[in-house]
Amino acid sequence: MFSLLIHLIGLALLKADQVPLNNGADAAHLCCNTLSEKLPSKVHFPGSVEYERQQYSHFLLQQADMQPSCRVSPTSSSEVSLIMKTVTEHSCPFAVRSGGHSTWPGSNVQGGVALDLGLLNSIDVDEEKGVAQLGPGCKWKNVYAAMEQYNVTTVGGRMPDVGIGGFFLGGGISLLSFRHGFGSDNVINYEVVLADGTAVSANAASHPDLFWALKLGSTNFGIVTRFDVLTYPVKEVWGGIRTYPVTSEQTPKLIENWVSFARGAATTREELQALIIGRWRKGGVDEIATIWHASLDSVPGPPLTDTPPIDDSTRTTTFLNLIDDLQSSDFADKKRNKWDAFTIKMDAPTIWDVFNGAKRTFDKLEHVSGMQWDVAFQPITQGFLTASEKTGGNPFRKVLMESGDDLALISFLVSWKDAADDETMYKAIAELGAWSEELATQRGILNNFIYLNYASGEKPVYARSLSKEDMTRMKSVKRTYDADDVLGRLWKGGFKLPKDVPETIFESSASTEL
Ligand SMILES: Cc1cc2nc3c(=O)[nH]c(=O)nc-3n(C[C@H](O)[C@H](O)[C@H](O)COP(=O)(O)OP(=O)(O)OC[C@H]3O[C@@H](n4cnc5c(N)ncnc54)[C@H](O)[C@@H]3O)c2cc1C
Repeated sequence: MFSLLIHLIGLALLKADQVPLNNGADAAHLCCNTLSEKLPSKVHFPGSVEYERQQYSHFLLQQADMQPSCRVSPTSSSEVSLIMKTVTEHSCPFAVRSGGHSTWPGSNVQGGVALDLGLLNSIDVDEEKGVAQLGPGCKWKNVYAAMEQYNVTTVGGRMPDVGIGGFFLGGGISLLSFRHGFGSDNVINYEVVLADGTAVSANAASHPDLFWALKLGSTNFGIVTRFDVLTYPVKEVWGGIRTYPVTSEQTPKLIENWVSFARGAATTREELQALIIGRWRKGGVDEIATIWHASLDSVPGPPLTDTPPIDDSTRTTTFLNLIDDLQSSDFADKKRNKWDAFTIKMDAPTIWDVFNGAKRTFDKLEHVSGMQWDVAFQPITQGFLTASEKTGGNPFRKVLMESGDDLALISFLVSWKDAADDETMYKAIAELGAWSEELATQRGILNNFIYLNYASGEKPVYARSLSKEDMTRMKSVKRTYDADDVLGRLWKGGFKLPKDVPETIFESSASTEL
């Protein structure tokens, strides 16, 4: 105990820039103790009930493998500011978690300070202005429940437990996206704590460059303590999931119908969302194809095939109930997970081929305990991208526009039970991703965009998803607000703006025809 005290005093006497960065764990202990004095009862140490509760409330079990030196639960922007000043002063590694639904271990830290924003969860709906102020720690179910009283909703997540912080800082695909673009297109103001601990409001009039950059901000610019978002009227909606067995006779036709529906009617008639094909292994059916429907006008959508579904949860209901219905799908469960994503021009044969590539990969891994896999296909149509520009544009839209066509975002959503299988699964998913992208490249239909919110942690999301011009602008915003890259060095997790980007990466994607 005495030697620890001496050690901490020694560390405290060092100036911040003298604390060696490879000594992050010592620095973190210093930060935790300092914060514990300044914010008593808000700092939780290993072994405490609250620390363990927070650790196991992440979506990914891998996040609980990381053991921060302490977890801190601020309840105001000024407390976030105090924490930011403390961690930067002592060079403590830290991570930030809002809803904890990162699809890779990106919101926790080993041996550092974990900020849990779960208590920053206020929801204020201004009916007259059509704007809601949301704390980053809100879950979508709470946001929609609060908005339901006013018959409004917003461009938010499609599962009730997903958090709003990560969702908005990575873009955000919603049931409303065909009409209103990405979630972040609908954020009109960010309250954000910068690297030096100051809190600013970033919007179209104040700090406009930061406002633009935060629309794909991830962990580069600051900790957002409030999102002000546009709301839209909604009453009854129609939607749910229709489930079909996968067969080589019927599924290619279903995919073709999904593609033509997404390309045409969906934007105006029905807000059709994802096609998800994956493992089922129930009732003699090995794989299922599910169509996730949602019509905000409450107009029932036609089935996309004559084959009767083996399950059909579609109904007319409230927006909140629909979101709850979607949660009941398999991949909402807490397990070990890995997701990955890439983007192609809409192309039915490639969708079928990628599914079959996934099937070949995962059939070889049948022995992996608790394995579940899905390949999700989501339309990012020209209509979606047009809607995305209405509120001023975002940093990633240009790359999406490069293909000049409707796009399909493809993601692999894979889960399993045991840590011992992690490496096998990571390798298989990486190889499957590389093979699929190569297939799309050969067919001339790859779009460079990688969706940040579904991307695997090692993917060059920024290098691939920004145009050369927007990369230059992003880096300039970064220099303005975090010139020394303090957040790059200390803030663990999220996706970072790259230091060097090879010129070739900006070559226009999907330039050749099929
Ligand atoms: C079951 C499931 C369903 C999903 N559904 C959708 C969907 O419908 N549409 C969609 O677009 N995406 C969806 N996603 C992806 C989801 O948007 C991302 O995983 C998102 O990052 C989750 O946000 P979070 O706040 O819960 O995550 P967290 O794990 O808390 O945070 C994710 C990342 O954002 C950073 N971050 C979080 N809050 C802040 C903040 N306030 N300031 C600065 N940085 C912050 C974290 O440091 C971390 O790097 C889904 C994911 C899952 C697991």
